[in-house]
Amino acid sequence: MKFYVGGVSALEKLFLYFKSNGLNIYGPKKDRNSIIYGELNDFSQLCLSPEGISSKTPQSIKNIVHPSSQLFLKTKSDYSSYAVYDNESGDKVLFGIRPCDLNSLYILDKMLSEDPYYSHRRETIKGIVVQECTIPGKYCFCSKVGTGPNTESGFDISYAFIGEYLVVFKSGSKLGESVLSKLFLREANEEEVKLYNEKIKNAKDTIEKNFPLDVKDIEGALEKSINDAELWKEISKDCIGCSNCNMVCPTCTCTEFIDDIRMNGNAERKRIWVGCLSPVYGQIAGMHFRKEQYMRYRHFVLHKFLFSKKEIGTKICVGCGRCIAFCPLRLDLRKTLNSVVSIYGKK
Ligand code: SF4
Ligand code: SF4
Repeated sequence: MKFYVGGVSALEKLFLYFKSNGLNIYGPKKDRNSIIYGELNDFSQLCLSPEGISSKTPQSIKNIVHPSSQLFLKTKSDYSSYAVYDNESGDKVLFGIRPCDLNSLYILDKMLSEDPYYSHRRETIKGIVVQECTIPGKYCFCSKVGTGPNTESGFDISYAFIGEYLVVFKSGSKLGESVLSKLFLREANEEEVKLYNEKIKNAKDTIEKNFPLDVKDIEGALEKSINDAELWKEISKDCIGCSNCNMVCPTCTCTEFIDDIRMNGNAERKRIWVGCLSPVYGQIAGMHFRKEQYMRYRHFVLHKFLFSKKEIGTKICVGCGRCIAFCPLRLDLRKTLNSVVSIYGKK
């Protein structure tokens, strides 16, 4: 893979290149003291922090391609009803998304392959520019699940900061190669490539230090732990079922329909996100198929690492750490996995 080098100005040129070609730019956007995922009208809005940002924003690409609320149908009081299709339009480039989010997009592709609303939005994405993380965020464990902090495929262009203003670029597709050639970047020298590799290695080492778990053990250990109710009760004893973790997880895709009926007789049918950690999820005809909270938490974890492999052939945790960062009771998925592996990983 060829490496090129430029300054932050080259990055801005790249941004402007896509914009001048009529593409809308979407990505992590600075919004006062927080970060959201949305349209970037100006390069200055782009969050360029070299540190992983997933633990700092409850949003992800999911908010763009599978939004939290989607209008499906409007009905008037005279009962003349009509379908409302997603009116999202305009070709997009995802810009500055982090490697864990890139991986979550390909997981969503598999999970929502039969959802026309998802496909409609997904088809508007015409290019992907990834920012690799040279400093992991507090709760990141991407390297443990193979999704970061760098990336080798599935993007058009990637970039990483090797100095405050020095950026290394890589192309991952013909489109990427052709766009980079228009920026007149120079090829990276040996020193710069070495520095880049060191930065990525340091990021991986930091993750390893924070979460020293042998990932090969996870699936086997989880499988063996399924019927250990006491262990799962202990692990999840603080969980209040708020389902924040589901909402912020870039790969949680469950939804339900709600009908919003107005006083004037008009009504709207919407599809909204719903989380399996919530006590209302699983209620059927007065019964509940996961009655206790530990069962819901256990399901969340098993689905990410075990059941999803059976469903779509891959685990669906990208190690972004959002479920840890945004849990009000600080339940930590890394600790959960450590607990399960420490008991069942060796058996
Ligand atoms: S965010 Fe924390 S407390 Fe809320 S449902 Fe998830 S694990 Fe439980
Ligand atoms: S389970 Fe947690 S760490 Fe894994 S992808 Fe979801 S939010 Fe990120």
